[in-house]
Formats: sequence, C-alpha cells, structure tokens
Amino acid sequence: MRETGFPLAPGAVIGILGGGQLGRMLALAAARLGFDCAVLSPRADAPAARVAAHFVNAAYDDPEGLAELARLSAVVTYEFENVPAAAVSRLETLGRPVAPGARALAVAQDRVAEKRFFEEIGAPTVAFAPIASADDIAPALERLGAPALLKTRREGYDGKGQTWVSGPEDAEAAFARIGAHPAILEARAPFVRELSVIAARGRDGRIAAYPPAENRHENGILRLSTAPAELAPETGATARAIAAGLLERLDYVGVVGVELFELAGGRLMVNEFAPRVHNTGHWTLDGCEVDQFEQHIRAVAGWPLGPAEPFAAVEMTNLLGAEAGDWPALAADPAARLWLYGKHETAPGRKMGHVNRLRPLKG
Ligand code: AMP
Repeated sequence: MRETGFPLAPGAVIGILGGGQLGRMLALAAARLGFDCAVLSPRADAPAARVAAHFVNAAYDDPEGLAELARLSAVVTYEFENVPAAAVSRLETLGRPVAPGARALAVAQDRVAEKRFFEEIGAPTVAFAPIASADDIAPALERLGAPALLKTRREGYDGKGQTWVSGPEDAEAAFARIGAHPAILEARAPFVRELSVIAARGRDGRIAAYPPAENRHENGILRLSTAPAELAPETGATARAIAAGLLERLDYVGVVGVELFELAGGRLMVNEFAPRVHNTGHWTLDGCEVDQFEQHIRAVAGWPLGPAEPFAAVEMTNLLGAEAGDWPALAADPAARLWLYGKHETAPGRKMGHVNRLRPLKG
C-alpha cells in the first residue's frame, strides 16, 4: 500500500531496512500507532520480520528486493548504519522518501567525514588523523601522542575494527590488526565516563531530546546504561545542544544516538553518532511516556513528536549471549522489565535482550 504526503495516516506501511532487534522494536511501536511495517533483511530468521506485516528477504543491494520494499512502503527508514548508500539512493529514485536522509547516513558511515562534520558544527572531538597506510601512523602519533586508537573508517561497531597503537614501532602490526583498511587514528580521550543523548527531529523541524544516559561498556559492547545520568545542569544542556546542532545541520528526520565522553570538570567531547534508534536509548521504553522507537516512527511518519521527559529513572542491562537463558528468574522478578529479541541463535557477546529496572526519579 502506498500513500503520498505527510502526516501518514494509520494503515500506511513503513519500510525498514534491516531486521535486527532495533527494527523489531520499531515495528512494535509502529503497530501501536496503527501502521504496518515492511522489513527488508538478508536474514531469513530476522527478529523484526517476525513482528512485521511484510517481509522482503533480500540482500540490501538487490534491485528487485528494493523495488518490492518501495512498492510496499510509503516511507522507508533504516535500523543500522551500514546499509549501502546505493540502497538509499535507489529507494529515493523510486520515489520513496528515506528518513534519516542519505547525508546523515554518508556522514555516519565514514569516521573521518564524521569527525570533520563535528568540527564544522563546533562540537569538540579528540584530535585525529586520516590513515591511508601504515606509513601515515608514525607522523600522526607525533601530533596525537601515544597510545592512540586506530579505527577502520567504515563498518566498525561494538569495538570491532579498532586497536590501540602503543607507539611508532607498533604501526605496521596495528594496521595489519585492523585488516589494513583505510582508517582514522584518534588521540586517547581522557574520559571519566561515557554518556549518550538520544534526540529526535520531526518533519516540522521540532526537536525532542531525552536526558543523557551514562553508559558502561565491556569489551567494546554496551553492558549497562543508567538514565537520567547524574550531571551538572550545564553538562546536560551542552549534551542536548550538541545533539540539536547535529540534527539541524543534517536536516535530519528521526531519532539519533550521540555518544559523548565526559572529561574531568564536566567538559564534553563527541565520540560518534548513530543515525538510528540506539541501544543506550532502550531505557526510554520503560522510563518515558513516548519511547525512542515511537518517537522515531512519529518523526518519519510526519507526526508531532511526543514528550521526551522521563517519569522514572532506569537501569538498563543488556543480556548478552547465554545471559538470556536467565529469563525464568528475570520473568519472576517483579522489578525487572524484560525485553527479548526472539533471536534463535546465541553467540558470545550477541545482544539477545535487555532488562530495564525502574528507580525513583531524583529531584
Ligand atoms: P566507538 O566504536 O567509536 O564507539 O568506540 C567504542 C568504545 O571505545 C567507546 O565506547 C570508548 O569506550 C572507546 N573509545 C573510542 N574512542 C576512543 C578514544 N578516542 N579514546 C579513548 N577511548 C575510546
């Protein structure tokens, strides 16, 4: 079914590129507002496909699959940032608006473009250098200091494609460790903790930002988010202002996740942004009247954004790998709000679900 014009009326179909847990929770939120979803995923057992009205089981660059998604959908969004830019252009050529747009995706897909974009909007980041070959590393280290973090420019996630470079003697080996791909070398951020802001921008240009979360990673994978983070009011305001600046400059529609480092004294640096709903925003499912998934659906459908104020503080714990096997105990715990993603295969570190535990809001 197709529609033209926004706001989309209930009954319209929202296309989602990607079929993981983020797509699944988007589809559930869309259903609550009366929309259907069409999921395109190369995985036959995609968690999102099993809660969606339509499923296109195809590769992201399959022209027929994309044509089918376009035929089904009034508007298309994506649930991970590594969908090929060509897939988005193809959908746009077929007359389907894609939100967030191609520009947000292009910037987020290349860590060097992303850092330059942060500089452009006046958001502080670590010093960095583009790395095309191992020979670029030693001169960059002189400027950035050692150790420094070498990351592939593209397709890194959950700490993959990253390695610390201890000094110039480690340059060759470090470049090999990340697969000898084009890379970025980043100065070490002397952070005291990691924060994130989840924010949304509607088609009318209005912005809603949730209060920042404090995040703890283990082995590069998010373990725990607590929100709202206890912050100096100026730090919280700066975090939200950075997110708002980014949304405006990208003429963005939808939800964004912005990851930040907090340095001593409350100073902030931006690490990266994800042009999609974000794991550090799962707390909003049980802590806010309108959660990040509904907010994203509202934005892409051209509906007014909902309030982003929390009614409870939340501690969100990811269930990684075999931890999801604890579901009987978690289901019996009245303080635990359990979310399971319906993944059939467990693997170490794989995100299988999460648990939200509510706390009274302070202040
Ligand atoms: P990323 O893939 O950029 O989100 O990086 C994954 C994790 O590595 C971050 O959450 C931080 O814990 C750490 N990290 C990333 N960049 C830096 C940096 N420049 N300095 C110190 N730690 C970093």
